[in-house]
Amino acid sequence: MHEYSIVQSLMELIEGQVRTHGGGSVKRVSVKIGVLSGVEPHLFQIAFDTFKEGTICDGAQLEMVIQPIVAECLECGGRSSFEENQIFFQCQRCGGVQLELLDGEEMVLMELEIEGQSEGEGNS
Ligand SMILES: [Zn+2]
Repeated sequence: MHEYSIVQSLMELIEGQVRTHGGGSVKRVSVKIGVLSGVEPHLFQIAFDTFKEGTICDGAQLEMVIQPIVAECLECGGRSSFEENQIFFQCQRCGGVQLELLDGEEMVLMELEIEGQSEGEGNS
């Protein structure tokens, strides 16, 4: 299950970010999962929950945003989006088949909510 190795590298990335931030614990992790990324959200969730124990992400909430495929037609310039991977992509406007992929291919860390540092808040 390759989700495990993905989560592992995600954890490393998060740890690096938290260190840069100056420490603290992670409250929320928000990731964007492209339909074409090959990542299965359900398995990703399981892998995340398994891995987070004892790490900086222990207690963190995982938020997944599924990114549909977005493609631009080279013929009419129209943009089409596809909810899932399919064998054949066709422009939803003109029916053209010359499409350039714009989004939906990758998995990205979008947001990290870090707690544990007082940043001048709480003055009443
Ligand atoms: Zn088109």
